[in-house]
Amino acid sequence: MPEAAVKKEQVKTVLTISGMSCAACAGRIEKKLNSLPEVSEANVNLAVERATVVHDPTQLSVEDIQKVIVDLGYGAEEFKEQVREIKEDKTEYRGQKIRFFTAAALSIPLLLTMAAHMLRLSWYPEPLMHPFTQFVLATPVQLGVGWQFYRNAYKSLKSGSANMDVLVAMGTSAAYLYSVYNTFFTSGPLYYETSAILITLIILGKMLEARAKGRTSEAIKKLIGLQPKTARVIRAEQEIDVPISEVLAGDVVVVRPGERIPVDGVVVEGNSAVDEAMLTGESIPVDKKPGDEVIGGTINKYGSFKFEATKVGQKTALAQIIRIVEEAQSSKAPIQRIADRISGFFVPVVIAIALLTFAVWYFWLAPGNFAQALTNFTAVLVIACPCALGLATPTSIMVGTGRGAETGILFKGGEYLEKAHGMTAIVLDKTGTITKGEPELTDIVALNNLPQEELLKLAAAAEKNSEHPLGQAVVKKAAELNLTYPSPEEFTAVPGHGVKAKIAGQTILAGNRKLLQDHNQEMQQYQKVAQELEKEGKTAVLLSINGEAAGVLGIADTVKEHSKEAIAALQKLGIEVWMLTGDNQRTAENIAQQVGITKIIAEVLPEEKADKIQKLKAQGKVVGMVGDGINDAPALVSADLGMAIGTGSDVAVEAADITLMKGDLRSIPQAIALSRATMANIKQNLFWALIYNIIGIPISAAGFLSPILAGGAMAFSSVSVVTNALRLRNWKYKA
Ligand code: ADP
Ligand code: MG
Repeated sequence: MPEAAVKKEQVKTVLTISGMSCAACAGRIEKKLNSLPEVSEANVNLAVERATVVHDPTQLSVEDIQKVIVDLGYGAEEFKEQVREIKEDKTEYRGQKIRFFTAAALSIPLLLTMAAHMLRLSWYPEPLMHPFTQFVLATPVQLGVGWQFYRNAYKSLKSGSANMDVLVAMGTSAAYLYSVYNTFFTSGPLYYETSAILITLIILGKMLEARAKGRTSEAIKKLIGLQPKTARVIRAEQEIDVPISEVLAGDVVVVRPGERIPVDGVVVEGNSAVDEAMLTGESIPVDKKPGDEVIGGTINKYGSFKFEATKVGQKTALAQIIRIVEEAQSSKAPIQRIADRISGFFVPVVIAIALLTFAVWYFWLAPGNFAQALTNFTAVLVIACPCALGLATPTSIMVGTGRGAETGILFKGGEYLEKAHGMTAIVLDKTGTITKGEPELTDIVALNNLPQEELLKLAAAAEKNSEHPLGQAVVKKAAELNLTYPSPEEFTAVPGHGVKAKIAGQTILAGNRKLLQDHNQEMQQYQKVAQELEKEGKTAVLLSINGEAAGVLGIADTVKEHSKEAIAALQKLGIEVWMLTGDNQRTAENIAQQVGITKIIAEVLPEEKADKIQKLKAQGKVVGMVGDGINDAPALVSADLGMAIGTGSDVAVEAADITLMKGDLRSIPQAIALSRATMANIKQNLFWALIYNIIGIPISAAGFLSPILAGGAMAFSSVSVVTNALRLRNWKYKA
């Protein structure tokens, strides 16, 4: 049901449902809710475990709905968007913290006993600690706190691969089981402290990792925090505060100075300036007047104004940005495959090395010394554990995409964050990308005896229904001069060419040379005037009446303030910059010259733009295409990396892999620089993840590294990886 169809006295409630096991459950709840007379629409989504109910709150309260769902045998809670994220990482951290302290409390006495034993402290009573006491302390660590390793190892083995949990489980079990055997059947040496301290250290690493990982999603928390909790809407001619989830499309919302704008909409009354920095990274406040778009989450600076809500709930720009960033953060970058591949063969290889170490020690270096062989076996297993390897890419991707969002660059997935660093060519659309896309009519040249004003009236009538920026520039000029003109009797827009219209029985053509040539008209009369305008960088719109040359309009579109700087920055990065446009070659050349582009592809029909991109790709270039995402969609899709210049609340441009929320071309070199920084970070992480293992394996095999030190090194390796990834949070673009 479209938002607008929700009746004003109705509200939309979202509930989180628990206990649904399949689509049938969702269907059952949905059917039941829809059967209630007070409910006008109910929707249950199994994937996100959510029910959306549009109902009349005076007849049926949220509690009533909850009761209906609970009676069916499921759990139901009102869904609160704001608190969702923040809760999750904390529980992971808290869980590991509890496990760490439990394990530490039980292991420390064991460690002290071992230390005393090794140092042969005379005052320490013999026997140091009864073997059975040691067993009692070590067992909860091994089988309680350490249970997660067995469980994960089992899962991994069942799915046909071996992960780091297998190594941890094997290494610690070896030390533990050997000690248990000696406790009950022999009086051999005990290694309870080894297994217990190992588990404690690995959990410590996991705890620190969970804490640091929580910080990697700070960008998301910041974004969620931008969403105000209430909105002041006008209902029944009164201003009332309602929870943000109850704002409906079509509501008139009142915003006072200093307040955050609650949802997306269009200003209907009042003037102000709005700070949109939190969404676009652009620090200068943007003036707003009736008709202008405002975006939820941005801050109203000076005046009060009213706006009509157009996008609410999950449809707002902010909600979409949050969704995109969340999805991107949890997506895989192709480079992750390296890590996956290494871990894939690493574990079996390590197990083989560990077994070999055991055999060499037991049969050759220290024949018959089972304890010595076992210690070295355990040390190898533990030091080789590639835990940090699994963290190397995802943490950098999380922090990198988050940092991108803060800078106004929305990556739709980790793969695009990776791809951007290898781009060799960038193709820029001209209108709306390099230029402001707000063309202005500057020249009117009559080629017959009609006065300029009459000519403009005819052109405006012909362009009246055109959606093209050029057409709108003509209409705007006519409006500025308060001209009145008729509506066309017939109208056809010819994409990439112009328009054809019938006005007062006359056939009017307004467009480029192709349009007129296609209608078999002579070019001669236009050429001189048109070429002159084009040399000035203006677009010449040729006008004909009933096949006769009537005049030429000159339309100028100004170059964006930072286009030149951005293009220079790209060229400095060693990237080829191309301009792609449907406009005339001469006009294109003039604009290109203004911004320092030498490679131009002009006079391209909209449908040919994708082919041109394919041609560049065929030359072996890695091509990024930047456009507005509307008529450039096919070109964006065919490029290796499609980048859309975001316009207002339209952030989720389907065809694009990256949305540049600022509309400023400097975001392109920034995106590339961020991508390069992220890739460098990932490579550093891979180094930190592997260096300990590579150096540690031979040392452990040679018997020079105790399993406990190995465990410490491993925990340190995970922590250094995550800490290194967090450095990306402070990444700044340096031109
Ligand atoms: P761009 O790459 O600049 O977006 P388009 O494919 O939209 O170009 O249009 C190509 C050319 O077709 C324009 O430069 C203009 O000459 C002509 N044209 C298209 N639509 C119109 C129109 N409504 N009025 C006049 N000329 C038009
Ligand atoms: Mg265009």
